[in-house]
Amino acid sequence: MREQLLEQLCEAAASFYERGYAFGATGNVSIREGDEIRITPTGKSLKGLSPALLARLDLAGNARNENRPSKELPFHLAIYRERAEAGAIVHLHSTYSVALSCLDDLDETEPLPPITPYYLMRVAPLGVIPYFRPGSPLLGEAVGEAAKNHNCLLLRHHGMITCGRDLNEAIDRAEELEETAKLFLLLRDQPVRRLTPEQIGELNQHFSKG
Ligand code: ZN
Repeated sequence: MREQLLEQLCEAAASFYERGYAFGATGNVSIREGDEIRITPTGKSLKGLSPALLARLDLAGNARNENRPSKELPFHLAIYRERAEAGAIVHLHSTYSVALSCLDDLDETEPLPPITPYYLMRVAPLGVIPYFRPGSPLLGEAVGEAAKNHNCLLLRHHGMITCGRDLNEAIDRAEELEETAKLFLLLRDQPVRRLTPEQIGELNQHFSKG
């Protein structure tokens, strides 16, 4: 895999940490090229990673180096298996997305309303995954199934996952999801104006949903 891609992954991971999207040893990021993936290692902070610390595996999960992968490897593999075009995956426990995922009255068919065009272009439709123990094979199965129809997923009581054709797209989606969750929670006690069906139709006409 190209060294430049591995450097880009490490820089993106550090940036998530520095901006408070990831803390402690939470969060993981992976990229796929051909039949190989690289994923951030288990038990390590997203800050201070280098290409030599990344775990290298094939799409069946067989190790190709000695670094131990994130325990969330099962859902990364499940997404890559379901989505042939996916080149990168981001998973974060970012504050506003986790807050949204814990709401008792969350509308699971529409977890966030269409309040900005950017949410519609980069995130929607946002899927919701029920609670499973982190790292469990059942979580991997549920995520793989939902990834057939969603680029962005909210994991109940846990966090978010986004995928993209490349790292930049997965990052853009993660940032947009977190910011939209923040806006939604800021506005929760106020009457909110949604984009109208006409405005949404115009967006769908002018922008490919990728
Ligand atoms: Zn997690």
